[in-house]
Formats: sequence, structure tokens, C-alpha cells
Amino acid sequence: MKRYLWFAALVLLSVRGFGADLFDIKPMADGVYAALSKPVYKINCNAAIIILDDSVLVVDTHSKPSAARELIAEIKKLTDKPVRYVVNTHFHWDHYQGNQAYPSSWPAGVEIISSEMTRFNIEKRGIPRVKHEITTMPKEIEGLKAQLANATDEKQKAEIQSNLAQAEDYLSELKTMQFTLPTMTFDRSLIIRRKTRTVQILYLGRAHTDGDVFVYLPKEKILITGDSLHGWTPFMGDSYPYEWIQTLDTAEKLDFDQSLGGHGGVMRGKEKFELWKAYFGDLMEETAQVYADGATLEEAQKKVSAWLVAKYAGKFDPAFPQSVGANVVKAYQVVAQR
Ligand SMILES: [Zn+2]
Repeated sequence: MKRYLWFAALVLLSVRGFGADLFDIKPMADGVYAALSKPVYKINCNAAIIILDDSVLVVDTHSKPSAARELIAEIKKLTDKPVRYVVNTHFHWDHYQGNQAYPSSWPAGVEIISSEMTRFNIEKRGIPRVKHEITTMPKEIEGLKAQLANATDEKQKAEIQSNLAQAEDYLSELKTMQFTLPTMTFDRSLIIRRKTRTVQILYLGRAHTDGDVFVYLPKEKILITGDSLHGWTPFMGDSYPYEWIQTLDTAEKLDFDQSLGGHGGVMRGKEKFELWKAYFGDLMEETAQVYADGATLEEAQKKVSAWLVAKYAGKFDPAFPQSVGANVVKAYQVVAQR
């Protein structure tokens, strides 16, 4: 029992308290870092930290202000320069909900940059989602408490306990959230030029959402891709699959050696671009075929999922077989609307 308590305390400390550490900071080039998010109950996206001559630019702000504050503490270990620019790659909750941490840490002036559509989506869809989640989280917390009451295994109990604590913290952060919208938007590109570094902030077309932003460092040959390309199975809920293929094609033509997505590790070369384009192409083609043959949504989901798992399971993350069904549903809706 004593050992269990010690273990539980350790788990709690590691996620909540001192030395809480949510990110692995990995250098990509001189003054350019990937902040790779570690697995937690409410996921955080990766961030990119780009140190400029006079200031710092950060890409994406995670699912909550406390996570962004933790990254800010990491940034302060790397440099004394202030964060002046924050980029939101798109409107999804796990990429922008930490925004408020930056202007509150540097009140003298932080510009939060996004595409015009991403700002629109944060305002019209992101903020209502937070308000809705405040009403659904208590039920989720009750569910975790019930799981805890039924758990028999000590290790499992400690994990649920940790998840419960994280869920409660998350809810209290949602309740006190200061909605912080992008302060600077652009249509096609916004370029920050400094003596030693140029940062291109680009909109290359619709993809994972209708407002995805890429951040490109031409000299360092680094491309930050948000959720338009990353190490996990693509989430397609708000996507434009046919255009996504085109947008990846455009992005891939840029000259880079490394890319960093919103989730997963740093990617080398362009292999992943080829994989995602092939996957979306196959997904849409197979779904269109079974749709034309008269398959219902359920039939399409079963048939196309099985086909995709056989071809792609080893090439994506281990959750691929569970995630692929939702992609087929999206594909079916898109095909049906054509
Ligand atoms: Zn996303």
C-alpha cells in the first residue's frame, strides 16, 4: 500500500506539480527548437520555438494556458529575448487554447498571427466549443470517478487518479479562460525578416481545415506543418480531402530537410508527404468506388477501413485501425456531396 501511495504521488507530481514537464525540447537548427509534447490526458500539440535577432516566435499554444506557461518557462531557459510573435496554425482546441499565456507574460506586445480564416474559426467555432466543454467536462469527470471506484489493479488506479486530477485542472482552466484571438492576420503570406533569419508564414490552400498555416525557414530548410502533416493518423473532421492533397503537393515543393507537425516527432525528408497524399488519394478513390456501387455509410466504413488497414496499418501510428473508420465517414460525406 505504501509503495502504491508513493507511486501515485510521483505520478501526480509529474503531471501537476514542480518539475511538471510536458515537453521534450529538441534542437532542429541553431536557435530553432521543436517542443515535442509528451502524452497527457488532454493532449497538447507540439510547438516550434524560433529565436530571432531581437525576439522569439512560437508556433502553437497547446490545449490550456498552463501548458503554454510551462513552455514559456522552457523558452526562458533558452533565451532572454521576449516572445513577440505567436502563430496559431489552425483553430483546433489543442493548438490555440493556451494563447492568453503569451500576452500575459509579455504585456508590452505580443502579436498572435494566423490566417484570416483561422481567426474567424477560433472566434466562431473555437470559443463556443470551450463554452460547450465546460458543460460536458463534469460528466467526463464523473465517468473517471466511476472508473476509479471499479478499478482493482493498483497501477490502473494510479493512472485513473492522475487522469482525474488532470481533467479537474483542465475544467478549472476552461472556466477561467480569457479568450485570446489572433491580433494579426494575413491572406497568403506574412514574412518576418531579420538580419540572421527569415520566417515565412504561409497559407497554401485548404487542407486539415480551411485556414491552415505553414511556417517555413528557407535558410534552415525547416517546415512547420501544424496538423496538415504530422506523426499520427490524420484527423479529417474539418478537412477538405481533395484540396489537402494539392496543398501538401505545394508545401512539398518548398526546399526543406526537416519538418515538424502538430503531433509526433520531427520528420526528415519528404516521405511522409508522399504517404499522406497516397493515403488520402486511396481513401477518396476507394470510398467513391463503393459509394458508386451503392454501399451505405456502414458498409463503406467496414469495407474501406479493412482495405486501408491492410495497406497502411504499418505505416501510421498504432491507433490507425481505430482512427481510420472516422476518416472513411468523412470521405463518404465528401463523396456524397459531389
Ligand atoms: Zn488539428
